[in-house]
Amino acid sequence: MDLSFDGRVAVITGAGGGLGRAHALELGRRGAKVVVNDMGTSLSGDGVEQDRAAIVVKEIEELGGIAVADTNSVATVAGGQAVIDTALSAFGRVDVIVNNAGILRDKTFHNTSPDDVDPVLDVHLKGAFNVTRPAWAHFREQGFGRVVVTSSSAGFFGNFGQSSYAAAKLALVGLIKVLAIEGRKYDIKANAIGPVAQTRMTEGFDNPLADHLDPALVSAVVAYLSHDSCEPSGEILSAGGGRVARVFVGVTRGYLNGDLTAEDVRDHLTEIFDDAGYVVPENSMAEMTLLAEMLGK
Ligand code: NAD
Repeated sequence: MDLSFDGRVAVITGAGGGLGRAHALELGRRGAKVVVNDMGTSLSGDGVEQDRAAIVVKEIEELGGIAVADTNSVATVAGGQAVIDTALSAFGRVDVIVNNAGILRDKTFHNTSPDDVDPVLDVHLKGAFNVTRPAWAHFREQGFGRVVVTSSSAGFFGNFGQSSYAAAKLALVGLIKVLAIEGRKYDIKANAIGPVAQTRMTEGFDNPLADHLDPALVSAVVAYLSHDSCEPSGEILSAGGGRVARVFVGVTRGYLNGDLTAEDVRDHLTEIFDDAGYVVPENSMAEMTLLAEMLGK
């Protein structure tokens, strides 16, 4: 097996089922010591239904791997710290974080209340901050770290009834873009996936491709992004059904006019939206290069 995780410690949140469980089995099978975090909640995040983390730990051990269960909620700062403390006390280090825990509160924007928005942002977006922040100093000190966040096509492209979920998921892309920049000199790499898999989260969607959407096919991508040999950072990979593809934020060359008016915008939509010669800037300053070029500076 080429990509070994011997000596590495991986924290996987929401790993008691679905995609997280598949990631935990894959990294455990490849030799990582795994923290299987899952508070065992319902799809909407209400209550605690089952100690799923312990079941997955057992599965990893049966495959000859090493794992420890953690049932803290990633939705609080204290919970995130406790997840990393579990890794440090069980295995003495932390190398990889796969932020995967998630819930759903789908409603049309018209019917969405703050009570639906906060829990979704807390688990998906703040959860990634809560768990990754306490590990960051260790990553810097050891000169190594891998962060994977679980984003979604609902965030990249939009999906009816998922305003809070989509907002949280796309915000995670902003997070990894900055982690990739700040982590570069410490060999910390941070990437996002947009998975597609058949799990309890998607079983109600009646997808005709369901039989092709084994979560393990997404875990192959997570394993690469979590490995020492991972090259990309600050990137988004769409992963599902065995297909892996880059998703990116690009900018068109656009229309330039030093005396720009609202009427000019109206009259030049074709140039503004023309994606021939688009650019994918590697950071926010890089977009300025495009403007400088067009201004002849
Ligand atoms: P899932 O419901 O099977 O798994 C989510 C797990 O997260 C559950 O086991 C749950 O107990 C756990 N969890 C929820 N809140 C938690 C918290 N506060 N602390 C710790 N654990 C918590 O769903 P899944 O499909 O495996 O989803 C995994 C991730 O992938 C989610 O972030 C989801 O939004 C994302 N995603 C999934 C798909 C898909 O096609 N399945 C598509 C896009 C994104």
